[in-house]
Amino acid sequence: MNDPRKLFVDERLAGSCVYCGAEPTTRDHCPSKVLLDEPFPPNLPVVLACAECNQSFSLDEQYLACFIECVICGTGDPSGVKRANVRRILRAVPQLASRILAELSLREEGQKTWQPDMDRVRNVVTKLARGHLDYELSIRLKAYFMNK
Ligand SMILES: [Zn+2]
Repeated sequence: MNDPRKLFVDERLAGSCVYCGAEPTTRDHCPSKVLLDEPFPPNLPVVLACAECNQSFSLDEQYLACFIECVICGTGDPSGVKRANVRRILRAVPQLASRILAELSLREEGQKTWQPDMDRVRNVVTKLARGHLDYELSIRLKAYFMNK
């Protein structure tokens, strides 16, 4: 087991895409705005990312935000979800609404069972973990180097 105090984390990691290490060309909100409702929190964390990585997560994040809202509201029908942002997405992307609805099954007892696309869920969770880790470590690194 690696000692977390001895992990390779220092300023040499700054200035690269947090997800792949390439040269960053964008700033990525972490968490993505699709997972939040307005008004967004002040000082929403951002991390550096290359355009390819930043774009590559968008559809999975959109899927997960919609899936979670559908589960919470118990419906795949856009008119039945509470979050306005998700309702707008489901209406604009009917294929997504259909896909999420197809992931709902009803048991004989009438209970609803949702089976998400776990590859997409895993992709978003990993992205969030990397982004938050980078953001938190960056804050600590800045504080560390400012106190030196
Ligand atoms: Zn990247």
